[in-house]
Amino acid sequence: MGEIIFWTLVRIMIIIPTIYIMRNYLDYSVWWSASFLLMYGVVLHPAIVQFRYFLEKNKDVLESSLCSSCEHFDKSAVLCMKHDEHPTENYLPCDGIDWSPKSKGNGVENISE
Ligand code: SF4
Repeated sequence: MGEIIFWTLVRIMIIIPTIYIMRNYLDYSVWWSASFLLMYGVVLHPAIVQFRYFLEKNKDVLESSLCSSCEHFDKSAVLCMKHDEHPTENYLPCDGIDWSPKSKGNGVENISE
């Protein structure tokens, strides 16, 4: 996830000066449309595609692994916060020993319900 954010910021840093420079060469109404299309095509759409790929790649870990029901699991980064490692389909950083159910009151559902 951090990689998606990083590359989105890189693209934003490139596209903003480009859009600013284009202002000198295009009619104002065309410049607005071109700017919008560039922002969508260069920044937003690639970020959406990368995010969908991230979700698809980690679908099994996010939905059906032991970690997905553990309070130490950060879904947004697919990260075990207790061991600071990324679990995979075939690898649990704690081998299940440190698993702890998500608790009530922190905005996360309780698996026992
Ligand atoms: S403590 Fe164990 S079960 Fe919980 S997220 Fe980390 S590796 Fe997964």
